[in-house]
Amino acid sequence: NLSKRLEKVASYLPAGAFFADIGSDHAYLPCFVCLQDSSTTAVAGEINEGPYESAVHTVKQNNLEARIDVRLGDGLAVLKEDEVHQVVIAGMGGALIRNILETGKEKLKSVNQIIAQPNIDARSVRRWFLANGYVLEDEAILEENGHIYEILTAKRKIAVSPYLEEQLEKQLLFGPYLLKQPNAVFYKKWRHEYEKLQNVLSQMEKAKTKDVEKIEQFNRELNWMEEILYDEN
Ligand code: SAM
Repeated sequence: NLSKRLEKVASYLPAGAFFADIGSDHAYLPCFVCLQDSSTTAVAGEINEGPYESAVHTVKQNNLEARIDVRLGDGLAVLKEDEVHQVVIAGMGGALIRNILETGKEKLKSVNQIIAQPNIDARSVRRWFLANGYVLEDEAILEENGHIYEILTAKRKIAVSPYLEEQLEKQLLFGPYLLKQPNAVFYKKWRHEYEKLQNVLSQMEKAKTKDVEKIEQFNRELNWMEEILYDEN
């Protein structure tokens, strides 16, 4: 029987996960998850011999050697590059969890989800997420055997800088390939669209439209068109 705490941790993993459980101790968590979901595979990492042996033992007992690889080592050092997609670090202090993440950063390139269960100082973990492009997606707090546990799950943020976002919007409007190699028809089309949009805008002004966002958007598009038409000459 798994603890409520580790069950909650497990509930945050997606089906078909390929995850690392760092500081796995008896490997109860990866065994539980793999028994529930036959499409999940895991790496169980342990820094200490005793717990490492326990993990090997539990995995054998459950006949999960093919899907759970138990490895001896410090933090994320047990992982290869571009290996797992999720990382679980549970049952340690927040400062230690943060240090493990910070020290092993280069192993996180393929990791889009981190689930942490700090026994104390969850703030350190939240701060690390914030500083490293992971967005906290959910949190749970529960009590078990007189202890209160916090569980955090975070996903990697896909950052789009305003500059790239504007490029993207522009490419969506004009077409990325057409923009690169505009021909006469392209220019003709956008001269026409430019006039149309100017008319729309003046109608909106006459009607005293309050939709500021739309007006700004149209003005932005007019500017793009002007740039393009200017290039024609
Ligand atoms: N994750 C399990 C859980 O939540 O029930 C076990 C928690 S146990 C209290 C913490 C485990 O982390 C211990 O087995 C310890 O040996 C291991 N550990 C501590 N520091 C570690 C590190 N830097 N790398 C890997 N394992 C570590």
